[in-house]
Amino acid sequence: MTNPSNKLLELRDLRVAYGGIQAVKGLNLELREGELVSLIGANGAGKSTTLKAICGLLQPQGGEVRYQGRAIGAQGPWDLVAQGLVMVPEGRGIFARMSIEENLRMGAYLCRDGEVDADIDAVYQRFPRLKERHRQLAGTLSGGEQQMLAMGRALLARPKLLLLDEPTTGLDPQARHLMWERLQQLLQQGKSILLTTHFMDEAERLCDRLLVIDHGRKIAEGTPRELIAAHLEPDVVEVYGGDAQALSTGPLRALASRVEVSGETAFFYTRDAAPLMQALAHEHTLRSLHRPANLEDLFLKLTGRQIREDA
Ligand code: ATP
Repeated sequence: MTNPSNKLLELRDLRVAYGGIQAVKGLNLELREGELVSLIGANGAGKSTTLKAICGLLQPQGGEVRYQGRAIGAQGPWDLVAQGLVMVPEGRGIFARMSIEENLRMGAYLCRDGEVDADIDAVYQRFPRLKERHRQLAGTLSGGEQQMLAMGRALLARPKLLLLDEPTTGLDPQARHLMWERLQQLLQQGKSILLTTHFMDEAERLCDRLLVIDHGRKIAEGTPRELIAAHLEPDVVEVYGGDAQALSTGPLRALASRVEVSGETAFFYTRDAAPLMQALAHEHTLRSLHRPANLEDLFLKLTGRQIREDA
């Protein structure tokens, strides 16, 4: 049984550098048993580096990682796997020239002695597609199947805390939904998850809490709803079909509290969209989309709407 008051993972002022490059600059984070916490941030923000430091693949230059109440110190990845802290890396880390079954057996033998068939069967029950193709070489699997294999292999270590680096990148919509369902099942079974993602709908749907990371620092933390309510107006009207820059300074500007421009679209943020929608009804050359503010708006507000040249 999970105990949500139990702190499973804690980062205190974590600092990680590659030579002269400071990738993580003093990060604090807490994750309790049974929680799913997401790290979101632009490319190069320091998300993967954080996960690697937590699982012992990188040694921090400063600060501390505490797992189950104890500093992990200089323990390596395999010491931590034995304690239930398991990472699935971004490239998935599977052996391309081995079959699904061989990958699973190898994974099981690496983390435990004795009989492994029952555990492998349990993986096949969770991901029936892996069983159907158990002789197929891992390198010939689709992206979604490879992700299932990587997850299945991680589960053989009987993790308490899974670190998942972009678990749904490259997956089609069906495979993403399947992965989300599997992650929810793992949470219901008492596992805890720390994941990174670039998909705001994924973070909004799955996580209890999220941290926005920018240039190696945490710039916001909370539940998706709390963060949206704290930082954004509730309504957004996207307007396109004209000169977005001119729209953002023209007569419509007065009908919104804030306007941002990205490419050919002007985003009008407002607490009451009715006057703006009425005005737009007379603008026949413009097109518009009225929607509630979402996590993507938050992310872009906090980290900048322009595409990063410096990422
Ligand atoms: P993405 O979303 O693109 O995966 P990220 O937030 O996971 O990005 P990191 O991979 O943690 O970002 O990288 C953080 C910074 O550290 C970047 O500036 C990156 O170039 C740098 N970095 C990462 N790995 C190395 C390495 N092995 N050697 C040198 N610099 C590195």
